[in-house]
Amino acid sequence: MCAPGIVFATHQGGGGSPPPHAPPPPSQGFTRRVDLSHPLTPDFPTWPGEEDHALKATVLAHYRESGYYARALAHAEHLGTHLDAPAHFGGTATAEAIPAAWLVLPLAVVRLKAQDPDARLGVDDLLEWERKHGRLPRGALVALDSGWSHRAKDPAAYRNMDAKGVMHFPGFSAEAAHFLVVERGALALGTDTLSLDFGASEDFPVHRIVLPAGRFGLENLAHLDRVPEAGAYAFVGAPPVAGASGVPARVIALF
Ligand SMILES: [Zn+2]
Repeated sequence: MCAPGIVFATHQGGGGSPPPHAPPPPSQGFTRRVDLSHPLTPDFPTWPGEEDHALKATVLAHYRESGYYARALAHAEHLGTHLDAPAHFGGTATAEAIPAAWLVLPLAVVRLKAQDPDARLGVDDLLEWERKHGRLPRGALVALDSGWSHRAKDPAAYRNMDAKGVMHFPGFSAEAAHFLVVERGALALGTDTLSLDFGASEDFPVHRIVLPAGRFGLENLAHLDRVPEAGAYAFVGAPPVAGASGVPARVIALF
């Protein structure tokens, strides 16, 4: 997500100091891959207020004789399947400063198939995951599969905005975010909606916990329902754009 006008009185969580651990390296070969990215198209739903910064492509050259083809792109940093860098919400690291070692990491998928669009994934849901699969791996990407990604082709349904302009879609609870960062050493949180925080949030506590702690976020993920809850790895193909608060990303699950 991206929320203009947020003012930070203090930078909690160490001002973006990096967590003192790298994810464990993959220990086995993988035979399956699932693309967790939506194609980035001009009509992909933007964060409200950023409609003028949807994807714009200008053809620079397209020569039929030689086949040479090149475009210039303009878009909001937080568009489509994308990475939230710590600097997006009070941390210090911008996209290029995220270590490469953190971009290949264990993937835990937590499913929240609640009917309530205001549902929040809680600590209970994480403990239920651990009862089935064992302790969440340290240094993981923990991704919320709420079933919301199939709405992405319909911006109104994806934002699910009420008459007052408040969006309604699922997200992480603040307690779950704190548990993942502090108790389980997660390096990243991901979601299949527009924001790690639930749609109706006004103060974005999940962003305020995850990003100032030097961890990163992934939003607008796709196809998490095709990935096992435990045992997969994620490759996060996020370009190292200098100074970026976020970047569109190609995220691949390997298992
Ligand atoms: Zn974002």
